[in-house]
Amino acid sequence: MPPASSSPAADSAGFVRVRGAREHNLKNVDLDIPRDALVVFTGVSGSGKSSLAFGTLYAEAQRRYLESVSPYARRLFHQMAVPEVDAIEGLPPAVALQQQRGTPTTRSSVGSVTTLSNLLRMLYSRAGDYPPGQGIVYAEAFSPNTPEGACPTCHGLGRIYEVTEKSMVPDDSLTIRERAIAAWPTAWGGQNQRDILVTLGYDVDRPWRELPQQERDWILFTEEQPVVPVYAGFTPEQTRQALKRKLEPSYMGTFTSAKRHVLHTFANSHSALMKKRALQFMLSSDCPQCRGKRLRRESLAVTFAGLDIADMSRLPLKRVASLLQPYAEGKGRGHARQAAEHPEQAIVSQRIAQDLVARLAVLLDLGLGYLSLERSTPTLSPGELQRLRLATQLYSNLFGVVYVLDEPSAGLHPADTEALLAALAGLKKAGNSLFVVEHDLDVVRQADWLVDVGPAAGEKGGEILYSGPPEGLARVPASQTGRFLFGQEALPPRPPRTPSGWLELGGVTRNNLHELEARFPLGVFTTVTGVSGSGKSSLVSQVLVELVAGHLGQEVPAEEEEGEPLERAAPVLSGGRITGGMEHIKRLVRVDQKPIGRTPRSNMATYTGLFDHVRKLFAATKAARARRYDAGRFSFNVKGGRCENCQGEGFVMVELLFLPSVYAPCPVCQGSRYNAKTLEITYRDQSIADVLGMTVDAAWEFFAEEPLVHRALTVLREVGLGYLRLGQPATELSGGEAQRIKLATELQRAQRGNSLYILDEPTTGLHPSDVEKLLAQLDGLVEAGNTVVVVEHDMRVVAGSDWVIDLGPGAGEDGGLIVAAGTPASVAKVKASRTAPYLRRFLA
Ligand code: ADP
Ligand code: ADP
Ligand code: ZN
Ligand code: ZN
Repeated sequence: MPPASSSPAADSAGFVRVRGAREHNLKNVDLDIPRDALVVFTGVSGSGKSSLAFGTLYAEAQRRYLESVSPYARRLFHQMAVPEVDAIEGLPPAVALQQQRGTPTTRSSVGSVTTLSNLLRMLYSRAGDYPPGQGIVYAEAFSPNTPEGACPTCHGLGRIYEVTEKSMVPDDSLTIRERAIAAWPTAWGGQNQRDILVTLGYDVDRPWRELPQQERDWILFTEEQPVVPVYAGFTPEQTRQALKRKLEPSYMGTFTSAKRHVLHTFANSHSALMKKRALQFMLSSDCPQCRGKRLRRESLAVTFAGLDIADMSRLPLKRVASLLQPYAEGKGRGHARQAAEHPEQAIVSQRIAQDLVARLAVLLDLGLGYLSLERSTPTLSPGELQRLRLATQLYSNLFGVVYVLDEPSAGLHPADTEALLAALAGLKKAGNSLFVVEHDLDVVRQADWLVDVGPAAGEKGGEILYSGPPEGLARVPASQTGRFLFGQEALPPRPPRTPSGWLELGGVTRNNLHELEARFPLGVFTTVTGVSGSGKSSLVSQVLVELVAGHLGQEVPAEEEEGEPLERAAPVLSGGRITGGMEHIKRLVRVDQKPIGRTPRSNMATYTGLFDHVRKLFAATKAARARRYDAGRFSFNVKGGRCENCQGEGFVMVELLFLPSVYAPCPVCQGSRYNAKTLEITYRDQSIADVLGMTVDAAWEFFAEEPLVHRALTVLREVGLGYLRLGQPATELSGGEAQRIKLATELQRAQRGNSLYILDEPTTGLHPSDVEKLLAQLDGLVEAGNTVVVVEHDMRVVAGSDWVIDLGPGAGEDGGLIVAAGTPASVAKVKASRTAPYLRRFLA
């Protein structure tokens, strides 16, 4: 008899045993889940799926792993908090493939994330065609990010930047006082430079163009940085007097020319926003030396299959794979000669080509063949990035690992989802376990084991409703998931609405769209479909948004500040015009999944405007009036009522030696964000901090008598956010939650009709039951006389729309056409459409 061990039967039976899990809303749950299986976690949004899969299982696996590495290595990980759980047994090491919230911050490309670029460089170095007489180029020298490889003229940027008088002084009829030098800093910084020029004797009140050229050149371009006395607030005349009398100056100021300021900001600022501003005042053009290819001449002279490495990196992966295929089979051009003259080189080139082709095949299987190696990751969707990382795992040949994935089907057309399922099956076959948080019923159906969390969200969730093979869920009436998994698929037929007009676009050119004509019906609900990479976002989220916004004089909301300003500087080939229908559109509303704020300072209550009303209610109480507290006193963003120790954040950052710094509740206000005096004021026995701690559902009952607050809360509940706390920091919200908050904020505005609403995959992260709520909201918008256009993969939603525009037929250069357009029933009959077969299943 072997001695009893701490992890007996369950472990040997191939199960992971979880005991007493209490992370976030989990209610002290116990759970046994099989290893070496595809386990899918389901449940409505906010029920606790991620708290279980990521917050508990993955966090614990990571904690154990980190205990085994050096403190130095530990610092390199984004460490998760230690989970609230009594015990977990039988847990293998875990790899998380979580979707990034917001945009990824690190700059990389498809080639670098997948490590394919390294291989390709090796191929060029070892097996490329060299011009006669040129020595070998080492692999690193095929990368523009190394000193060996970078083009010496543009330093590997591919573009050169210059500043000119015209670029820095756009309007030369202005005086310096009127900010003729637009490139100088705004606000105080610019004023300071102007005051320095006054001291230096320049006329800041003459139109720029009337100043002598020599003076203008010095102000704009000099490298000199004189330090001179500044008399703040003095007129030029008073300044002259003060200088003459050698009066004590306000301070000594350092002059910086506009050129110096722009170039310095561009090169050194850590703020992407500042860099972007600097870029406005610079002219950029393709580098004449490398013609934008970023590499030095020797590297570009080496070719493979007739292409230099820069051209190769710009091809879709699918083309790269077919170009390399013959080489992998030893049949490439010149192989026979090479095999005879340099047999070892021939073997090397075949090996590398084989490896590349095998890795590329995985990417093609996952439906990513339309991407190119040089494509930068900030321009990819989170779903595309997750699949790239998944592909990298697929050929890294690990086994005995748990992969924890977050909605891998996000952004995938049902046809792409089949490829994804095949890839997951491959990982499982290699001896790994898969724990997947997922809403897509096609994925849920493939599970070996289902864990359904619920029954509802937040405090009303956090229980395990079911854990077992999928069929068994049919016997759990409390499960929302079961209702959809085993329920009627087809929707009751509804006659599509008739459009009230058409918004027509012509000559649309962007990414893979070339001179496309498209028309969107007005006053109805339209879904835009197509496989991943077919051009849906290019058409809807880019061109349609920009054209309509431009027409209305509305500003296109700037892209996220992060990402790479250099990338953006390269001109996007873009075209298109509105040819009709704008007379019916008065307003454009874009509801996307971008975060509503990046600091814990913004939260749902502040974003929706709800908190303004609440603060007024507190200021109107007798006690507040007696103390003369106004509504500002109840803000945690300004001095007065907030806790000054944490400046209203509720948290303070604690620096730890050898470990990533952590946020801890503020010791002065215990996380309440307010000072004691403010907390003394109560509204119906609750302090302002208590209100921020309420869930939307609780606040809805509490404020039943306050129409303004109640209305805002009602809408939040209607979009399925009743479980969120009012003060939940923006940084803790998922993309889907952020999108629904934006939608709710829009919905509580007065409905005027004639607005165009554009949403990109609003069902991402939503349980089918939440999708129903969302659809009811969108339907309400259409009923009120608005137009709704949605990029969508969920065929239930598509089937329930009034009009479908199907892009394709394939991805990238194989897509970009409108394959079908019409009512769902008519699109479902189009043979060439890859959407049609999936759509048919949902039409009665
Ligand atoms: P799901 O993955 O099912 O959508 P989550 O596990 O993300 O649900 O959330 C479950 C509950 O825990 C929700 O009420 C959510 O608001 C809360 N929650 C999630 N993340 C955090 C966090 N970092 N801090 C506090 N509460 C959280
Ligand atoms: P979908 O929304 O249907 O998935 P997209 O409109 O995102 O498709 O992409 C269509 C094509 O345009 C793809 O080949 C994609 O790689 C390319 N593409 C999209 N965005 C960019 C970009 N910012 N830079 C370069 N190519 C892009
Ligand atoms: Zn160059
Ligand atoms: Zn505090």
